[in-house]
Amino acid sequence: MSARAIERTPSAYYHSLLIKNLLDNPVRQFPNQEIVYGDFKRQSYQELSERIHRLASGLAGLGVRPGDTVAVMDWDSHRYLECFFAVPMMGAVLHTINIRLSPEQILYTINHAEDDVILVNTEFLPILEMIRDRIEPVKKLVLLNDTGQIPATTLEIAAEYEALLASGDPGYKFPDFSEDARATTFYTTGTTGLPKGVYFSHRQLVLHTLAAGSALAGTGQGRFNRDDVYMPITPMFHVHAWGIPYVATLLGVKQIYPGRYVPEQLLNLIQRESVTFSHCVPTILQMLLSSPKIEETDLSRWKVVIGGAAMPQALARQARRRGVDIFSAYGMSETCPLLVFAQLKPHMQDWDEERQLEIRCKTGLPIPMVDLRIVDPEMNDVPHDGVSQGEVVVRSPWLTQGYLKDPQNSEQLWRGGYLHTGDIGVIDAEGYLKITDRLKDVIKTGGEWISSLELEDLILKHPAVAEAAVVGVPDPKWGERPLALVVVKPGQEVDAVMMRTWLQNFADQGMISKWGIPDRVLFVDAIPKTSVGKLDKKVMRQQYAPTGG
Ligand code: AMP
Repeated sequence: MSARAIERTPSAYYHSLLIKNLLDNPVRQFPNQEIVYGDFKRQSYQELSERIHRLASGLAGLGVRPGDTVAVMDWDSHRYLECFFAVPMMGAVLHTINIRLSPEQILYTINHAEDDVILVNTEFLPILEMIRDRIEPVKKLVLLNDTGQIPATTLEIAAEYEALLASGDPGYKFPDFSEDARATTFYTTGTTGLPKGVYFSHRQLVLHTLAAGSALAGTGQGRFNRDDVYMPITPMFHVHAWGIPYVATLLGVKQIYPGRYVPEQLLNLIQRESVTFSHCVPTILQMLLSSPKIEETDLSRWKVVIGGAAMPQALARQARRRGVDIFSAYGMSETCPLLVFAQLKPHMQDWDEERQLEIRCKTGLPIPMVDLRIVDPEMNDVPHDGVSQGEVVVRSPWLTQGYLKDPQNSEQLWRGGYLHTGDIGVIDAEGYLKITDRLKDVIKTGGEWISSLELEDLILKHPAVAEAAVVGVPDPKWGERPLALVVVKPGQEVDAVMMRTWLQNFADQGMISKWGIPDRVLFVDAIPKTSVGKLDKKVMRQQYAPTGG
């Protein structure tokens, strides 16, 4: 017997889960609420709405049609928020370009996503100039400019953002279409091989917004409510700044967009604008807490979600001493990203500080509608005893349904009907997940990925190198840093400085990012191998961790 579909009277309106439906209420109810872009701009929600309409109209005037892709290269700004809404709302796809990738990777993502228009901040013109001849076909460029001066560039600029808005129609009508339409796309380098495109529909982003909003609503520790002031410190190009700008807009809260992340400026904005809710990777928080300006900043009302990497207890303790309500979250590009928050359960609210700290540093509890399991290689659940480890696999309404134009890796990601995170974790009796290790052969440094295989390839290109392996080792500032192990061919000579210079050349050519160059290059007689002759990275990580010598 199959379930019975609801009857629908012919006049009933099917209200789809479209991003435009997140916007109406806050604009109507909080028209004067503020959105601030660093020291450059203050605008109201009313203006946000008007500018979203003008932007869509302007882009349509440039030829953007439903199904086209509009890419953005910008720091966190009010403009980016406008794009978060306007581009998907007109039925186009927003491609948020990761400006921290190497120019070669950026080129790959622009071509692979088939961008039609690129909105580019003046600061990133040199990147496009470097790769212009290989961008296909020729894209229309819209300039995002905070300098007040016309930049010297040989690239053809189709329009300047503010002029485009000025000529746009504030009465532009956003169409209705299927909630399954693609709204956003961006690339992850958190896997081996070329960057992989993930994508999310309107329905997925709306449900992600509602679920994250409900997980953060209410009273107690780790909440985000109408009276908060929001400032993201994870970039808007990275998984939609964890989707929180959509939650913030839905709530109608004051929002601060800080531009490029400069610790002193971030602290200045927290103080000046009374910011109460942010999210960032551990490295950024460490930089803020180490800034001399910290002494002049009151952080006692600041709630900070830490994700992207495990939160070190020492960092959490340091933040707690300043009164910060700090807690972990976990997710990945493939998961939109939010899956879990490490909030205290009500009965934990009166636990002592140290016991609470342990919970805050766990990876967290799944948010509504996330089915998260830890499993063995045969997909059997492992016990939730806080000790038994398994791979984290998930289902929820907002997971990427594949990698863009990559059926093989898509199936691999979703084998057995669950999305495989490549992370290893334990779950305790209270249901809290803790990530303990990683299956994937990539290194995360300061929130950005480095492919160990790619580095190994480049090192092996050196004529004096017989064997090479690259592993991530813990680092107090960056979370992890790459360490290279090299076996030199008999009779040949190469030292660490030469090897780093060798890799620097590839970075200069835009092939790897500059933080991909290992700080430590060690020369060894043999590289540890498993019984079947594969590089044994687990052993290397243990053997060469700084504390282990
Ligand atoms: P990305 O796709 O770049 O957002 O990276 C996602 C990956 O970062 C996850 O698969 C984990 O390996 C790692 N990660 C994110 N959050 C955490 C966390 N709270 N603890 C440990 N690792 C994390």
